[in-house]
Amino acid sequence: MSGAKPAESAAPAKTPKPKSGGKSASRGDNAAKKSGGKSQHPHGGKRHHQRKRKSPQEQAKPWSLDQFKVGPQEGKTRFHDLDLPLELMHAIADLGFEYCSPIQAQSLPHTLNGHDMVGKAQTGTGKTAAFLLSIIDDLMKHPIEAERYAGEARALIIAPTRELVIQIADDAKALTKYTDLKVHTLVGGMDYGKQQKHLQESLVDILVATPGRLLDFCGNRDVYLDQIEVLVIDEADRMLDMGFIPQVKRIIRQTPKKSHRQTLLFSATFTDDVLNLAEQWTDEPRRVEIEPESVATDTVTQHVYLASTDEKYKLLYNILKQDEVDSLIVFANRRDECRRLHEKLERHGFSAGLLSGEIAQNKRVKTLDGFKSGKLKVLVATDVAGRGIHIDGISHVVNYTLPEEPEDYVHRIGRTGRAGKSGTSISFACEDDAFRLMPIQELVGSHLRCEQPPEELLSSTPAMAPRPRREESSSRDNRGRGGRRDGGRREGGRR
Ligand code: AMP
Repeated sequence: MSGAKPAESAAPAKTPKPKSGGKSASRGDNAAKKSGGKSQHPHGGKRHHQRKRKSPQEQAKPWSLDQFKVGPQEGKTRFHDLDLPLELMHAIADLGFEYCSPIQAQSLPHTLNGHDMVGKAQTGTGKTAAFLLSIIDDLMKHPIEAERYAGEARALIIAPTRELVIQIADDAKALTKYTDLKVHTLVGGMDYGKQQKHLQESLVDILVATPGRLLDFCGNRDVYLDQIEVLVIDEADRMLDMGFIPQVKRIIRQTPKKSHRQTLLFSATFTDDVLNLAEQWTDEPRRVEIEPESVATDTVTQHVYLASTDEKYKLLYNILKQDEVDSLIVFANRRDECRRLHEKLERHGFSAGLLSGEIAQNKRVKTLDGFKSGKLKVLVATDVAGRGIHIDGISHVVNYTLPEEPEDYVHRIGRTGRAGKSGTSISFACEDDAFRLMPIQELVGSHLRCEQPPEELLSSTPAMAPRPRREESSSRDNRGRGGRRDGGRREGGRR
């Protein structure tokens, strides 16, 4: 726990957690006890010598806060006001952040002081940076001088999907780029050996993982969680929906007890189940709630077009042909719908990517990279595969089918209008799914006016290119004879 920070004035005093500073002492004690005083590490993990810390002269970089001037503004918190290390400020400046987003402004004063936190925040609110800044500040201010071991993480972030883990790790790498901190990811569907080798070759400060793969690594004694100082559970509601809670419980049991770690839990919704888990896992947490409207309505212009099922593809095609559409994500509820849409778009000459659970992980990563770099103009995604994608500059989101869960609507349209930029969402409401609008309106707290689509968006589409031979056979394989092989399954374990 940082002794340098003043105690919060409003909050009742909490016994400081023996965070990093205290922990470095207990590390040594634990190791000595378990090893019976022998020099071999109790885990048998490969020994790493502590990175040599740079001298102040070496550390002195030409960059200074003079190059990152942000004037005070009423009602806004500047990163300058938070006493963050210079290297972190440099990375924040590179990312172009000036003022804290509401979740950051409300949570950082608590989390930087070592308090646990339970946060209600959607993706798009800046929650990832909120927990990463706190972790990085803590790890930098409490370096471990003692010897460290391979696979022994200092901070652990657990998230439900591979895409989300990769995005969080990308953000963590961007924010740690001027520090010595090492970020590792463990996700299923990707080469175990590569992840293992990486862990053996370099220390791990921040570990970002999906629950299943993390447990594999723990079980094989490739990762140790007994020295975790900060634990983040992201998208707790999604973990519940996807049936991950038993795995998360097994993970948490391997970390130090809650009074000896800092725990931050985030969820888009606060159901009773989520709050029960928060109660079990956190210790006198501060509670911060950011309402979904701050994502959905502020920066996204929302349209709802009434369309018959037959008109939907025409609408999508014509929307994509509009000049103002730079990059677009189209969401559909089922994998087979996504697959068919993707094929049609490609045959109409659009550079399109497909993101659904049936696509191999390495292909998904490539697709995301292609979309980020602008090589792909359109991405067709299911909710689970598309959730947690943090890509800035997406101009449009189309809901080809309205989601069954109103929360998914907020998640979907939150892909655009990110970080204060404006964006447009267009939802198609047809005879089969218009009834889903009411609960969505209740959740976002505003009326969504249904419009007849403009005439020009209903012009006929040109003929499609013939189906490439190889793809034809593979898509037939996927569907099976006379129908879909996956039975038109919804994505993920929800519902
Ligand atoms: P998240 O809610 O974590 O998905 O973040 C949404 C987006 O907001 C990401 O692209 C971040 O890079 C961006 N972001 C996070 N914090 C800030 C900030 N304080 N100012 C501007 N953009 C931000």
